[in-house]
Amino acid sequence: MSHEELDQLRAKLDDKNMELLKLLNERGNLVKKIGEVKSKAGTKRFDPVRERKMLDLIAEENEGPFETTTLQHLFKQVFKASLELMGEDEQKTLLVSRKKHPENTVVNVKDTLIGDGVQKLIAGPCSVESEEQVLTVAKALKERGISLLRGGAFKPRTSPYDFQGLGLEGLKILKKAGDQYDMAVISEIVSPNDIETALDYVDVIQIGARNMHNFELLKEVGMTDKPVLLKRGLSATISEFIHAAEYVLSRGNTNLMLCERGIRTYETATRNTLDISAIPILKQETHLPVLADVTHSTGRRDLLLPAAKAALAIGADAVMAEVHPDPAVALSDSAQQMDIAEFNEFVTTLRESNLLKDVAA
Ligand code: PEP
Ligand code: MN
Repeated sequence: MSHEELDQLRAKLDDKNMELLKLLNERGNLVKKIGEVKSKAGTKRFDPVRERKMLDLIAEENEGPFETTTLQHLFKQVFKASLELMGEDEQKTLLVSRKKHPENTVVNVKDTLIGDGVQKLIAGPCSVESEEQVLTVAKALKERGISLLRGGAFKPRTSPYDFQGLGLEGLKILKKAGDQYDMAVISEIVSPNDIETALDYVDVIQIGARNMHNFELLKEVGMTDKPVLLKRGLSATISEFIHAAEYVLSRGNTNLMLCERGIRTYETATRNTLDISAIPILKQETHLPVLADVTHSTGRRDLLLPAAKAALAIGADAVMAEVHPDPAVALSDSAQQMDIAEFNEFVTTLRESNLLKDVAA
């Protein structure tokens, strides 16, 4: 074969590449249009039956020289890329997406702003156990200029025989502490039936990790205008977490904060694995404030401080940690709550590390 002949064939090949390029992009545009139609109709983008039919047709029409299996493999790659093309558009249409809403959402919790660039601390006991217990912790927090008090009244416990929380009585105690010390209170609600009642007692409704996938609960809080703190599910991917958040925004409530609280992994040295990179990923992908719960992620008192430092350094809008006047006798999470002295040291060290700028030195 002469050089000239080779050059001619190569030129033809280049032309075919350009034709394929044009055709692939034309196909891509069609796929995007189909994605829009499907999105309006609320139908799923991936349709395995339709994909099978397209592959069968390719097999029927193939005249070679490529093997049918080779071509089917190539087309499957095209189908996969097409789905990704539709998925990319979905990101643009999600209400939680930063692509849709580039500015940061700042959540106003009883005049404390979360997501405004000044990192905050949320603290309080795992469970509300008594008025005295909550008031002791609230006073200690207030003395350090912290105005976000957490406490569980409805406790989602692994065993039905463990302390289940004081329920409404617990919400009342929290409200009393919030009123007395002018603090905002945060508490988990586990049933859609309790949302309406909770509106009168708490400033933030927490949806716990075990309920991240409780879509009825998400829809219910989405229909209120109360700030919501949504925790990442025990084994939820970031995408699942983002979609759970979308449930809340899709019903109209934009006062939403996300909280990374550790995920299940094979590691047993910690209770869960704090997925530290989830924090900047969630900040990039969504416009919502992102928090880090250092207590439930590590499950270890000795790791609260380094985990909080890491979370603040990587850009968390707030850190959540549990504080109890006497952790040894706490009715839940006794291994990882700080006592008041440890909490003060925790705050002082973070402050000295120049990480928490709005707390009292
Ligand atoms: C809590 O914050 O009280 C709690 C139970 O946390 P999680 O849902 O993250 O386990
Ligand atoms: Mn706890």
